[in-house]
Amino acid sequence: MNLLLIGSGGREHALAWKLAQSPRLDRLYAAPGNPGIAQCAELAAIDAADHRAVIDFCRRHSIGLVVIGPEAPLVDGLADNLRAMGIAVFGPDRIPAQLEGSKGFTKDLCARANIPTARYVRASDIAAAEAALADFGLPVVIKADGLAAGKGVVIAETLEDAKAALAAMFDGGFGGAGASVVIEEFMTGEEVSFFALVDGETVVPFGSAQDHKRVGDGDTGPNTGGMGAYSPAAILTPELEARALDEIVRPTARALAEAGTPYSGVLYAGLMLTPEGPKLVEYNARFGDPECQVLMMRLESDLVDLMLATATGRLAAQAPPVFSADAALTVVMAARGYPGTPETGGAIGGLAEGEAGGAKIFHAGTTLKDGTLVATGGRVLNVTATGANVAEAQRKAYAAVDAIDFPTGFSRRDIGWREVARGVR
Ligand code: ATP
Repeated sequence: MNLLLIGSGGREHALAWKLAQSPRLDRLYAAPGNPGIAQCAELAAIDAADHRAVIDFCRRHSIGLVVIGPEAPLVDGLADNLRAMGIAVFGPDRIPAQLEGSKGFTKDLCARANIPTARYVRASDIAAAEAALADFGLPVVIKADGLAAGKGVVIAETLEDAKAALAAMFDGGFGGAGASVVIEEFMTGEEVSFFALVDGETVVPFGSAQDHKRVGDGDTGPNTGGMGAYSPAAILTPELEARALDEIVRPTARALAEAGTPYSGVLYAGLMLTPEGPKLVEYNARFGDPECQVLMMRLESDLVDLMLATATGRLAAQAPPVFSADAALTVVMAARGYPGTPETGGAIGGLAEGEAGGAKIFHAGTTLKDGTLVATGGRVLNVTATGANVAEAQRKAYAAVDAIDFPTGFSRRDIGWREVARGVR
């Protein structure tokens, strides 16, 4: 079978690497891909925003499955248009992708299906939003409704900060994303990422992870797309995972199916483990980046089989995914300046030395310039290793980081600290 993978980041490199291991695969294409993905797929210069071009490519190359990596094409309805042409797709249609595309959509669904999450109010003008603040204590959480690349959430410690955040959002500070807001109560607890393959009402757990959002060691500095992750997250015990499935993910899949807009693909639940149990913080309609990298390192099952079964409504009949008992940990190497204005064009060397000890280096933001690998900015490499536990995976990943020659790059030095501090050695 021929496959087309949409995307160009570290998440897609990890997916391409795993898909390429399947004996069912004939040819793997990636659009647009990156130099790392090019080691396991043929790159296709098509723009995912041009749905007609994607459909034409699928026809010309007899594509049996399209795997959509990032959220933007999902929210944009690429999966709907491919399905309408009879092409199998791993990834939800536009309406169920609103679980990620609209925070208000998700909160309303949670209210209807009685899913545990923070108490909330939606508001579409500043007067109503300011009035609603009186219903909440401090800190209070203010979110732009739409996609804002992780920058549409403010945790306000004071009423003044809350009002300033509302003013910025209604002022168009987040483009269309701020046209309406969700105001919600602040939840306390530890956050964990939980993944499930979903095919209508069939929900199959697909592993857990924890990421590190802040740019600096000790979880300091501004938020990023994620500076590292590890899997599994031991704090999500089998009991808590069962509760998350029964109380959160399954009712969500059921509510969408009952509404006539069934979900198909991977559903990523951002959970807060509160004293009352797991509560939903947010949904994403795709794999996390860099959480996907650690999941793929641990997945032992054939990813083509699992994705094809999900895409064609056969997930219930498919053997459940098997993950290694090993831990996996990934360290993001970013370009200096990230998440502000990152330096671009910095040369990268030593990848073979980095992988010599068994680590796997996924490319996230690289390009080839006159035969030299250079950084395109932002998050550049995901240095990923496995071990008997997180501490061992951490040692191996940092040994690889230290072998890489990327003078204009940096990484956090404490990825996995929570798990290591818990004494899981
Ligand atoms: P992401 O980049 O994680 O996808 P996002 O813009 O989709 O971000 P959320 O995940 O909803 O936004 O929120 C971002 C972060 O803000 C969460 O990971 C969590 O740390 C914090 N947060 C959001 N809602 C709450 C809440 N109700 N209580 C406490 N913290 C919260």
